[in-house]
Amino acid sequence: MQYTSTRDTKIRVSAAKAILSGIAPDGGLYVPVEFPNINVQDFYGLTYPQTAHKVLSLFLTDYDSAFLEKAIQDTYCDAKFAGKAGYVQAITQECFSLELWHGPTCAFKDYALQLMPKLLVEAKRILNEESVTKILVATSGDTGTAALAGYAGLPDIKIAVFYPDHGTSEIQRLQMATQEGENVAVYAIKGNFDDAQTGVKQVFADQTLAQNGEQLSSANSINWGRLVPQIVYYFYSYAQLVAQKKIADGTVIDFCVPTGNFGDILAGYYAKQMGLPIGKLVCASNNNNVLTDFLSSGIYDARRCFYRTTSPSMDILVSSNLERLLYHSTKDSKQVATWMQQLSKEGIYTVNEQVLTKIQKTFGCGFAGDVQSAEEIKMCYVQHQYLLDPHTAVAWHVAKSEKREGVPCVVVSTANPYKFSGAVLSALGYHMPQDEFDAVQLLQEKTNLKAPEALLKLKQKTVRFTQVIEKDEISTVTKAL
Ligand SMILES: *Cc1c(COP(=O)(O)O)cnc(C)c1O
Repeated sequence: MQYTSTRDTKIRVSAAKAILSGIAPDGGLYVPVEFPNINVQDFYGLTYPQTAHKVLSLFLTDYDSAFLEKAIQDTYCDAKFAGKAGYVQAITQECFSLELWHGPTCAFKDYALQLMPKLLVEAKRILNEESVTKILVATSGDTGTAALAGYAGLPDIKIAVFYPDHGTSEIQRLQMATQEGENVAVYAIKGNFDDAQTGVKQVFADQTLAQNGEQLSSANSINWGRLVPQIVYYFYSYAQLVAQKKIADGTVIDFCVPTGNFGDILAGYYAKQMGLPIGKLVCASNNNNVLTDFLSSGIYDARRCFYRTTSPSMDILVSSNLERLLYHSTKDSKQVATWMQQLSKEGIYTVNEQVLTKIQKTFGCGFAGDVQSAEEIKMCYVQHQYLLDPHTAVAWHVAKSEKREGVPCVVVSTANPYKFSGAVLSALGYHMPQDEFDAVQLLQEKTNLKAPEALLKLKQKTVRFTQVIEKDEISTVTKAL
């Protein structure tokens, strides 16, 4: 399988090259030149690792099959995902929750970030790249935590994570600050997430680092290595629903996905392109509803107020992976390059009616503010004794309003509610304690649901990283890594 750039179709690279470089030389994103066709029945009865192996082998054709098999087994084994990789919980007859938070850091990003580091190390071997690779991550919480857990201890890789000081939940901060491993570093940045991101981008653009022979790479979801593992759970969840006789073989189903950078939902689009019977992919946003507006009007307008919400991992105004959908919908890399230029210069672009209609055939949309998200947490708990985190609650709200009669819908559940105990407690109507661990305890008492061990253990772990730096110090600390 070859990969090309969304901004220049003359470019052709292998999967290993796409994963190692992250972004194409023209600033575009790597996309597969075609979609392999599958027969959904071939996935019935497979374990999660077997499903992953089947999907990944179709895309990562330059990787050795035995390598993939071992990497996948080590990643999604029962010990790491509590025996619940890709687990689907029925909530009503027609609504299901795909619980993607049974991994080591309790958020769906583990699916990609537990595997991608292994794919990157192997890509270096395949391409005879012997230098040390430095991974830089700007994060508002979940990505940093999951990336640290995924890259810790890997050979010839160093990773530095930059998060906005006071801009994450306390649990998220502690998950990062207590990360073990010789090759990891964590810094708080004076500023917000955009400052951290801008600072990291400046380092990527800094030629002096490249001249010193430093290899930089990103764990951001623009990397193909982060997208491809996410295709797997769409297939696996479908096969599970058939196996449990919740749906008949071949039934068309919808997925509703809480969306920020458009990575998770795009993986669903890829699954559909490959032949999985998906009807609609419903894009759920929080108050930062730039995607709801785009999918309704064809106008992408990032010139708007940025809201800090109770679903911080979806607080994003420039949704990078949408570029890939634009490419697949137009096959016109010149046009995509123009739109992206307009976005970066003017903060806005508009697609034509034809493109919008095509996109709307597959994508539904909707959004929920903090109040609606909190209401859903409460209602879902009261009606079904099922606890949602604020991100999943956004999707749950949108799934209900966009539900098509007679069409089963899977809501993609992206974080364990205990990662956001304070917001969940207050949604349930309880007073929120100051201390996050008190909040975790109180939520356990009130719901009788056990918090994940990994979060409970955080309290005893040693805090290793407390340094707060200016954003223009990112370059200095990167060199010193
Ligand atoms: C990252 C994240 C999302 C958004 O996923 P995208 O791939 O960026 O659209 C949703 N929920 C949670 C909990 C996340 O961590």
